[in-house]
Amino acid sequence: MRRLGSAFDVLTYAELERAWKALRGSGAGIREAACVGVPRTLLVADIPADRGSPAGQHAIAIAAGMHGDEPAGPWALLSLVRDGLLDRSFAYRLWPCANPSGYAAGTRANAEGLDINRSFGGGGSTPEARAILTANRDRQFALSLDLHEDPEAGGFYCYELSDSGDASPIGPECVRAVEEAGFPIEEFGPGFDLGYPPGLEQFVHIERGRVVTETDAEFRAFGKSLPYNPGMLRRRATHRTLTFETPRLLPWRSRLAMHRLAVVTAIERLRAALAAERGVGH
Ligand SMILES: [Zn+2]
Repeated sequence: MRRLGSAFDVLTYAELERAWKALRGSGAGIREAACVGVPRTLLVADIPADRGSPAGQHAIAIAAGMHGDEPAGPWALLSLVRDGLLDRSFAYRLWPCANPSGYAAGTRANAEGLDINRSFGGGGSTPEARAILTANRDRQFALSLDLHEDPEAGGFYCYELSDSGDASPIGPECVRAVEEAGFPIEEFGPGFDLGYPPGLEQFVHIERGRVVTETDAEFRAFGKSLPYNPGMLRRRATHRTLTFETPRLLPWRSRLAMHRLAVVTAIERLRAALAAERGVGH
């Protein structure tokens, strides 16, 4: 049975697809990437940076809907684009719903029963992962974001993984922004399950609303079953990643708002960090 919030019943995949395709002509390139061997495609949206922008050589990747029973991510991402909330000094590659068959069925896994977010090792072990990895080949991103939901969490949290360790974190600002807007932050009490493979716990640093793991330990522990963001790091397609989790037990509108705030804040912080690196201050 699906208990995903009252708004979800009308928010079908067809509806989502239609909404994205309606954005064609607004400057966003919306197309479909083939999932080889299965009868489905993934929506992919490319938004160019504004001309002449100093950050314009940088692109940001944002994925959503990797798990089909976590609908707030896909709809939050759509609303960010539709409302013009993505800072156009960056270019964007967006995966509006990486698991359409899971979304349609209301399941975490895809139609073959596979967890896409455990299939980004090597060349990808699901048709969806292979489609994403193929399309992203040779692309470099200044930041990679992945929008998820947690069925049991009581508050918002994020996973932050970067190849420079925890040197210039962005996640704490995202947590602060969500909290300042009045939303609960996950406290990670006893029994909280991060769903990590055995042996990884000792390499995990947990603070309020934020989980940081040693990159090499994460690569080793997951092996071929790497999630999307660690897979992006592993392939050196990016240097920084954030995975946002909203509590699926909270009202639909709150979950959309939390994802929107976290994404906008992450991009603001990235822009400030890049400006500092260029030595122009911020
Ligand atoms: Zn998820």
